[in-house]
Formats: sequence, C-alpha cells, structure tokens
Amino acid sequence: DEMDVDLIWQDGEFVDWEDAQVHVLTHGLHYGTGVFEGVRCYDTENGPAIFRWEEHLERFYQSGKPYDIEIPFDRKELTEATEELIRRQDLESCYIRPVAFYGYDMLGLNPEECPVEVAIAVWPWGAYLGEEALEEGVDVAVSSWRKYASSQIPTNSKTTGAYVNSVLGSLEAKGNGYTEAIFLNKEGNVAEGPGENIFLVRDGEIYTPGLAESILEGITRDSVITVAEDLGYTVHDGATISRSELYTADELFFTGTAAEVTPIRSVDDNEIGAGTKGPVTDEIQERFFDVINRRTDDYEDWFRYV
Ligand code: PMP
Repeated sequence: DEMDVDLIWQDGEFVDWEDAQVHVLTHGLHYGTGVFEGVRCYDTENGPAIFRWEEHLERFYQSGKPYDIEIPFDRKELTEATEELIRRQDLESCYIRPVAFYGYDMLGLNPEECPVEVAIAVWPWGAYLGEEALEEGVDVAVSSWRKYASSQIPTNSKTTGAYVNSVLGSLEAKGNGYTEAIFLNKEGNVAEGPGENIFLVRDGEIYTPGLAESILEGITRDSVITVAEDLGYTVHDGATISRSELYTADELFFTGTAAEVTPIRSVDDNEIGAGTKGPVTDEIQERFFDVINRRTDDYEDWFRYV
C-alpha cells in the first residue's frame, strides 16, 4: 500500500492492511464514540525509540472513561502489539495510531451493548506541517470556529467525534490560504490549534494555556515545559492569553506529537516578532530535537526502545 506498511493489529490479531475493516453500522462511525492516540517513534543510535509511550497509553485509557469505553487489552498487550508492528515492518521511525471505538450492536445512542473494538496502525510520517515549517514557521489564522468547552465535550480526552471541531478549523484555515488555525475557547481566550498546543514568548518568559481553557494537555506540551524550565526559562503554565496578545507576542510556537515544535511566524497576517523562528523557540526546538534523536542522555526515561 501507499504507506509502505502492510500490517495492522486489530482486536488481538495482525491482519493485512486491506483486511483491517469495520461494519458500516459501527457505533463509532455514526456517533464518533471512539478514542485514539498519536505517538511518535524516533530513529536513534539504539534503534527505534517510542517517545513517552507510558503517558500516551495512560491517556488512551483515560480518554475512554467519559464514554465508558473499557479497552479490553492491557498495557502489556498493546505495547507488545505496537512493538511487533514496528519490528515486523522494519521501521526505523514511525507514527503510531491506536484507536478504540464502539463497534456494531445496534444504533441506539446508548452504546452499552456494543463491543469495544481496538486497532493499532503504524506508518512512516515526516514533519506534519512540512520540513520548511520547522525552520521558517507557519502562517496561522484565528478560526471563526471556537474550541468546544470542556463543559460540552471533555477536552482532556482524545475523542474521535470531537475532532470535527479540528477539521472545521483546518479546512477554514487552508481555504483562506493559511497553514493552520488557532482556536479561541468559548470565553474568547486562546485555547490551542486543531492538533497542537500553543506557547507564547514575551520578555523572555513563556506562557501557555492550561486545561481550564478547554485544551488537550498535550504530552509534547508537558515535555517542552520540562525542557524549557531545565534551560532556565520561567514557564507560566495555565496562562490566560487574549487574542490581542497573540499579535504583540515576541514569539509563538505550536507543540504536538505530529507538529513537534513548530514556530508561528504570523497570525491573521500580523508578523510575529521578526516574522521567522524566534531565538527562544529556536533554543527550545533545538534542544527538543536533540532529546528525541537521543543526542543527549538526558530524559532517558521518556523513551522505550523497540
Ligand atoms: N491539542 C489537540 C487538540 C491535539 O489533537 C493534540 C495532538 N494530540 C495536541 C493538542 C498535542 O498533544 P500531544 O503533544 O500529546 O500530541
């Protein structure tokens, strides 16, 4: 297939890519009652290394809680399945996508009779917003769509159906010629990107919204906060950031498993800082890439070697 991989793990079995199918009356297909994860595995001197696997697994199980999705495989089983997918397909680095969802029983909204189906796919995936974006930064626009509030849909759960919000924001941004969107929350404060958390730099200090702003508290976000603090920066975790502060920020950047650390060079056509990757972003990004490519022994417990 086009992704250069031919195996998917589905409900306990390794199946051929084209045989990994579901019924059209799958509950999760109709109502979005599923949860997923996105994880990266990096190419290192000691072989492929999965970044913060335990934290991603923990979030996967936690994501299911509001929906009573009990994933019928334990951590060891999901770990072995993932590692075997990577080994059997000789991947040096890849993106890992576990998903769990209510399958077919009947289509009442209450899913309690539906089986929980689980699958894991892995595939090679480069820079999410492009290699150039990592160097030059991206042009983003504040979305006319708001981020849903955590009083409406849990935002600390990676719920499949909830990603229609992200899709709307992405389509709008791309349609208007921007690379990515920024969502404000229901209160009108800065929340996050469709698949990224956001950081702001002002006067040498770093600010990022927290869970109270209806965001997903990303694992890259957590890693970047740790790395930035270890570099000596003050990080205001849980900051309230207004839309207008975006325009006057010294620097802005996104973080995420897919986006890694991506500078933002403009918001709504307003140049941020010098309109390119800023010095604080550069230092943090460089350190982050040193960490994930294991050019340092620091943060060794963030890695699981396959
Ligand atoms: N916010 C949203 C809405 C996301 O989908 C993601 C990607 N999982 C993130 C933030 C970043 O989270 P992480 O660093 O854990 O990938």
